[in-house]
Amino acid sequence: MIVDVHTHLPTHGTEVPAREAVVDRVMRPDRPVTLTNSAEDYLRDMEPVDRAFVFGIARGPAGPRTFDGMLPAAEVNDAAAAVAARRPDKLIGFMSVHPEEPGVLDEMERCVHDLGLRGIKLGANYQNYAPMGQPAKRVYEAAQRLGLPVVFHQGTSPFQNAPLRYAHPLVSDDIAMAYPDLRMVLAHLGHPWHADTLMVVRKHANVYADVSGLLYRPWSTYNALRLAYEWGVTHKLLFASDWPVTTPRETIDYLRGFNRFARKHHLPEVSDEQLDAIVRRDSLSLLGLG
Ligand SMILES: [Zn+2]
Repeated sequence: MIVDVHTHLPTHGTEVPAREAVVDRVMRPDRPVTLTNSAEDYLRDMEPVDRAFVFGIARGPAGPRTFDGMLPAAEVNDAAAAVAARRPDKLIGFMSVHPEEPGVLDEMERCVHDLGLRGIKLGANYQNYAPMGQPAKRVYEAAQRLGLPVVFHQGTSPFQNAPLRYAHPLVSDDIAMAYPDLRMVLAHLGHPWHADTLMVVRKHANVYADVSGLLYRPWSTYNALRLAYEWGVTHKLLFASDWPVTTPRETIDYLRGFNRFARKHHLPEVSDEQLDAIVRRDSLSLLGLG
């Protein structure tokens, strides 16, 4: 079983009109990323996985949007439910909410009971809310009570209005200490703060990190995975792609070919069994969604 715990909503239903196409040249140093995609593109790229979590990122009630794709919570959540409904055997819709939105707790209840969404995506930097402020704490408390795992964007982003300090893994340490039963996934191994992320993951039973969006920085990622191996925490790493930034296929091939890089550069390897175990991690059970 392969579970991709980090995929973004496709932007379009069927086709992407040429004039609406958005191509990013900053996210990956090795190739441009097409950020506009159809649901068909998404389903095709999800072929290699058995399950995938799919989500958007909700914009807040005030302030500038961090990036173009941000919509109010109700809209992203309806869209996540609609995409998930295309392949209910494979896709698991996650909600996104903004902690400072009035009615945020009602929206969470609607997502669970009316839309069947099973977790939450938050990105305090993109959404620009204080990650240990009172509004955010109410969301964590409700998530813990409702058994909803939370995927946190973690680490840097290229958007100017997204405060880096809100997405630092040491902030997640504070959240995990306050909400020990909340199942948390720190995305991208907190790039480039991999060491800090691993230490947070190591000390909290319910905190995991995903390996999405890393493979196109091979030296950084080599160090991150080798560090995870030396600290004995590869069992807390979850398979993920960050589609459309990378695909599941690329990520599987990268992990299974990881030691080619090590051998080529005469570097210490990571156990092939542990790398394969990341690919086949049963994230559904670990996150209480089994
Ligand atoms: Zn992402």
